[in-house]
Amino acid sequence: LVVVKNVDKHYGDLHVLKDINAVVNRGEVVVVIGPSGSGKSTLCRAINRLETIDSGVITIDGQPLPAEGKALARLRADVGMVFQAFNLFAHKTVLENVTLGPIKVRGLSRAEAEKKAMALLERVGVANQAKKMPAQLSGGQQQRVAIARALAMEPKLILLDEPTSALDPEMINEVLEVMIDLANDGMTMIVVTHEMGFARKAANRVIFMAEGEIVEGSTPEQFFTNPQSTRAKDFLSKIL
Ligand code: ATP
Ligand code: MG
Repeated sequence: LVVVKNVDKHYGDLHVLKDINAVVNRGEVVVVIGPSGSGKSTLCRAINRLETIDSGVITIDGQPLPAEGKALARLRADVGMVFQAFNLFAHKTVLENVTLGPIKVRGLSRAEAEKKAMALLERVGVANQAKKMPAQLSGGQQQRVAIARALAMEPKLILLDEPTSALDPEMINEVLEVMIDLANDGMTMIVVTHEMGFARKAANRVIFMAEGEIVEGSTPEQFFTNPQSTRAKDFLSKIL
């Protein structure tokens, strides 16, 4: 589904992505892990074309990422994104947050979009919050709305960049449970997270990044119990 080939990116003198190669197949859940500044977010943002790349190619369903216009809007709809900071539209209700994209980009009627949105809000356990404004929700609830908003577009793939790291501990699990449910349902997901419980339960593969490189990629079992590289061992010894 997603192919990343020989991708390089610099910010000025900083080489943030160094010859990145990765493939994500349909239905796969790939966890990306690694130290701060290793390029995890940059890679995710590049896959959604929120960042440009200097060289190499990223394809989705065999198509190189479009640069602009309608094709880019379609790409953004096909590739859902959930960020660390919840990024809901602050001046729209929860329900409007979830119906906006489907109405504007997918061309659904308001009634269709609302019906679908309510079903998704139900699925992530916040249907009773539909009329509220985002600021009236807890962080965990907001993040579940953000997931429902991404799902409402019927994306081919969802990117989640540290979706639980801004949450209070008691809210982490409610978001992880929604993510595990999605994974079990066959959603293709790329998840930047240090939540090993999630990686163990849901990931098909763990990719470890350091200093702009993919240092290793293996099953969660292998990665957490028997990391191959010194850098991965060092990293794990700090977070475990
Ligand atoms: P974290 O775990 O802290 O989220 P990360 O692995 O997601 O880290 P990135 O956000 O991809 O790391 O950043 C990689 C490097 O690129 C960092 O050194 C960062 O400071 C730098 N960087 C990120 N965005 C920009 C930008 N817009 N301009 C310049 N440098 C940037
Ligand atoms: Mg990041």
